[in-house]
Amino acid sequence: KLADKGAVEWKYTTCGYCSTGCAIEVGLNKDGKAVSARGVGDADVNRGKLCIKGIFEYELFESGGRGRVPLMRDRIHEPFREANWDQAMDKTASEIQRIQEAHGRDAFAIVSTGQIMTEEFYTLGKLARGVVGTNNYDGNTTLCMASAVSGYKRSFGSDGPPGCYDDFEHTDCLLAIGSNLPEQHPIIYWRMREAREKRPFPLIVVDPRVTMLAQNADMHLPISPGTDLVLLNSLAYVILEEGLQDEDYIRAHTTDFEAFKATVQDYDPLTASKLCGIDEDTIRNVARVYAKASSAMTIWTMGINQSTHGSDGVVAINNLNLITGNIGKPGGSSLSITGQCNAMGTREWSSCSGLPGYRALEKPQDRKDIAEFWGIDEDFFPEKRGLFMTDILPAIETGQIKGLWLIATNPMTSMPNTARIRKTLEKLDFLVVQDAYADVETNEYSHVFLPAAIWAEKEGVFTNTERRVNLIRNVMPPFGDSKPDFWIFNEMAKRIERDKKPNFPETTEQAFEEMKQLSKGRLLDISGMSYDKIEEKRGLQWPCRDGDETGSQRLYTDGVFQYPDGKAKLIPLPFVDNNERPDDEYPLWLNSGRVVEHFHTRTRTGKVGNQNKFSPTPYMEMNPDAAAEFGVEHGQYARLVSRRGDAVVLVQSTQRVPRNMIFVPFHYHECVNRVSLGLLDPHSRQPAYKQCAVRVEPIEDQ
Ligand code: SF4
Repeated sequence: KLADKGAVEWKYTTCGYCSTGCAIEVGLNKDGKAVSARGVGDADVNRGKLCIKGIFEYELFESGGRGRVPLMRDRIHEPFREANWDQAMDKTASEIQRIQEAHGRDAFAIVSTGQIMTEEFYTLGKLARGVVGTNNYDGNTTLCMASAVSGYKRSFGSDGPPGCYDDFEHTDCLLAIGSNLPEQHPIIYWRMREAREKRPFPLIVVDPRVTMLAQNADMHLPISPGTDLVLLNSLAYVILEEGLQDEDYIRAHTTDFEAFKATVQDYDPLTASKLCGIDEDTIRNVARVYAKASSAMTIWTMGINQSTHGSDGVVAINNLNLITGNIGKPGGSSLSITGQCNAMGTREWSSCSGLPGYRALEKPQDRKDIAEFWGIDEDFFPEKRGLFMTDILPAIETGQIKGLWLIATNPMTSMPNTARIRKTLEKLDFLVVQDAYADVETNEYSHVFLPAAIWAEKEGVFTNTERRVNLIRNVMPPFGDSKPDFWIFNEMAKRIERDKKPNFPETTEQAFEEMKQLSKGRLLDISGMSYDKIEEKRGLQWPCRDGDETGSQRLYTDGVFQYPDGKAKLIPLPFVDNNERPDDEYPLWLNSGRVVEHFHTRTRTGKVGNQNKFSPTPYMEMNPDAAAEFGVEHGQYARLVSRRGDAVVLVQSTQRVPRNMIFVPFHYHECVNRVSLGLLDPHSRQPAYKQCAVRVEPIEDQ
């Protein structure tokens, strides 16, 4: 039990860090100051628990570095001058219009986030697609979840994780690939562990590192970097060879089985073992355990998504679950564990990749429906999506894009190859940064800074990993003169001149009502929800149709998918090795990931004493044999070098990593992304943060 620390009033809201979606109560003292937090006991997601980030989240209301007022300057690197909102918004609106008049509408790009409310995403989509009218609008979720989105669409005809946390309580086998739940999603880990203690089931972990989750596994498969597709194809090979597939399910609910079967014939376990480093017997054993389980589920996170084969990896997981009949049933699922608190909200409603409510720009009827609903001309919309975030930045280098609006996005720390990103941002005619923190590294390159309210300084909804829509009640007023993102988008819409503009609702609850209307009858149906009902039920999972008392725990329970024929596709996936691989000059793999204390680029967790105390500095995990070979010692600093640059990092000698691999947490500025390469997945355009070649050099005179 956590100390109340003098709290006399508790306010309900939802955690604003990861996508687990924990319900949280913030304690206020008699002066109205946030002094404590506790988990909500009757919330099904977290059942009273919080992780270290949630416990200390209340400290963010008064943490250092917050943006208090708008800032402006004529040239980057000059000192900012304080401005009022009219000045900052007028300047931004006039720069957007100047750039678009001179270079075309798509010369101004917008990159948003997974951190703001769903209603704010919807409103931003309306602004970007219906007022600014740029097709170069994307989210930073391309860095984390784009491969999952792409893989779901390719397999099932739509995005949307089909499973839920409750599946841990029903499954007979859990395969976790590239997901370290105890550090990334501690409360989902706790749910899984509790379910496994009550009703033990095999846990199979695929990860090149001996992660905390791998230490808990019945079987740990330390796979060679970037070869998940080989392993997954080989599991399918064994299942088909031994006749363990679910023939009835395949026949009734899938297409293209024969083409899929022909491709997996190339991945017999002996051949696969030479590529992926997992021995033949283990591959056979895992395939049998998974296929013979009465229900089996796979979870994954960035280990699959952040790869040049990320989208294919997701499709391969879906293939495995389709041939074993493990979609849409209790304990049988392909469940991507999402990163940011509302990465799902941006996928559903932001219009980054299309139009709201999982509509596509490529579909004339979808363009027509939204144009009519918003009261604008249909031909204002492009007929296909524009650039992904990872292509927007190169388009700045070529001069195709002249202006950029970044919302809660920090590419100076989060994007691969920091030196290149710095030069890219310096080329912009105009950069506006909208963020809660004025000291975010990317703000060094902005012309205008718009201070945004955080998390529980406003009201709206987030969608979590299991499609649960949770309510965020405002606990405190916005800090200083910062404003909710919703207000900023509405005000910007008023200032940009267009012949026809959509109406913008005055409150987030009105925006939610619009979204409900647009969702009726669709997979993503939220028409049965209201703010009060969401709070009362501690979250509702979509689809939740008008009149439904509860939401839906699972998708595709009837075996009907979102392709026109109602069937899922089994997609053949030949493996092509296309990574930068270790060689004589750079003989080690670089792998990156997360630590439990920090979130993303430490914009927030770097300001909270308790978290920063535990993980204040970047480090690299290095196998003791490799450390001896490279002449570096545990507890000393060493230089990490790649073809892109170098970084100085503390050495942590550990058996958690194999001899040919370095692991570095990605959260720190001027660290791992100075050396990372980030080749892109061809389908999702997501960077392969976890696979490139480096060497380590000792530093003398420490
Ligand atoms: Fe917040 Fe995620 Fe921790 Fe839950 S697990 S308290 S949502 S950071």
